[in-house]
Amino acid sequence: MIPISKPSLGEEEADAVRDVILSGWITQGPQVAALEQEFARYVGSRYAVAVSSCTTALHLALLAVGVGTGDEVITVSHSFIATANAIRYCGAQPIFVDIARQDYNLDPCLLEAAITSRTKAILPVHQIGNPADLNSILMTANRYNLPVVEDAACAVGSQIFRNGRWQQIGQPHGRIACFSFHPRKVITTGEGGMLTTNNGEIARKLRLWRQHGMSLSDTQRHASKQVVFEEYVQLGFNYRMSDLQAAVGRVQLRRLPELLAKRRKLAERYTEALAQLPGIEVPTPCSHVRCNYQSYAVRVTAGFRLTRNQLMQELLNNGIGTRRGIMNAHQEPVYEQLGGLFLPESEAARDQVMLLPMYDSLTYEDQLLVIRALWAASRPVGFKQLLASESVCKLPESLARSSSKPDVTT
Ligand SMILES: *Cc1c(COP(=O)(O)O)cnc(C)c1O
Repeated sequence: MIPISKPSLGEEEADAVRDVILSGWITQGPQVAALEQEFARYVGSRYAVAVSSCTTALHLALLAVGVGTGDEVITVSHSFIATANAIRYCGAQPIFVDIARQDYNLDPCLLEAAITSRTKAILPVHQIGNPADLNSILMTANRYNLPVVEDAACAVGSQIFRNGRWQQIGQPHGRIACFSFHPRKVITTGEGGMLTTNNGEIARKLRLWRQHGMSLSDTQRHASKQVVFEEYVQLGFNYRMSDLQAAVGRVQLRRLPELLAKRRKLAERYTEALAQLPGIEVPTPCSHVRCNYQSYAVRVTAGFRLTRNQLMQELLNNGIGTRRGIMNAHQEPVYEQLGGLFLPESEAARDQVMLLPMYDSLTYEDQLLVIRALWAASRPVGFKQLLASESVCKLPESLARSSSKPDVTT
């Protein structure tokens, strides 16, 4: 079975957890502080604040830019449910705008029309690691003096070209960017999240709220030479990351450049092999973004012999795991209250897009199996025979040539 994804964890991460366990300090402490510093340095932000997940990061970020009861936050429906849910946690209403067909991200042309007097923030998503059009979104947001919170859950290591140079997602470009370390993302801590900001006052609030609104942290009390008592100055939460998780995250962050290089190589191969397949649309990132390929998404159009769902089943029958494209919150029962919303590009993407296996340890041989299976499925002949038959299931010249090379992904 070739799975859709696999976290990249090994002895180094296991040793890091072991060291933390034996240190006697396991929740938010020195490892979390170190991960925050290293993460801030990596993305180029002044501050980084670690939390328990990207969902809790989004909740705190929206609170930090002042989102509250009765406010509106503009975002996309075409995202994991947590994006929209975080808005509702604040008592606010998500206002969904459609995505652009090409990059599956918030269509900047539709943004201005969604702004009302109740709009409090804009929450674009860098879906599956592909950066949203921040240059356009920020221009509109700045014109209306609206804060931007980036859902960068999937986007660690992705970059945009802005002001004449390549910049990391998370710098941040909006007021705050939120990342996830869930195992489906490029780097993981099991569960975990990170906020980045250049605003010291926001960073201070985030640190307060993630720890019950408590005036002194555990480490401060532990280090104090005098008896001190904490105060609970504001309504807070327990949204902490543990040192066990942070220790794993530090190893993962060190390995990130290598993980990104492997993913980009795999994506390049998929694109080369599948671009000519009738009815399959490969990703076409704009020239001003660099994607981390958290997922590799293809669109299965009417020009393909099978429907997207039939194709997924046929691949599964042959031991290849895929997933449908990203969900739409407005089509889920929990958002029924919004009633009658029609977002054509979001709905088409959910119904036509398929994610292919993508993880750093995906071998070239296994990737070739996926590619061959897709080529075979595009032909109106027996699937199994085709899979077995090199001559009928012909690969593009360049791939056929490189298949004689040893696996260079490992
Ligand atoms: C994964 C994901 C989240 C949620 O991240 P968690 O860390 O699991 O809470 C939020 N938004 C997007 C776009 C995601 O892909």
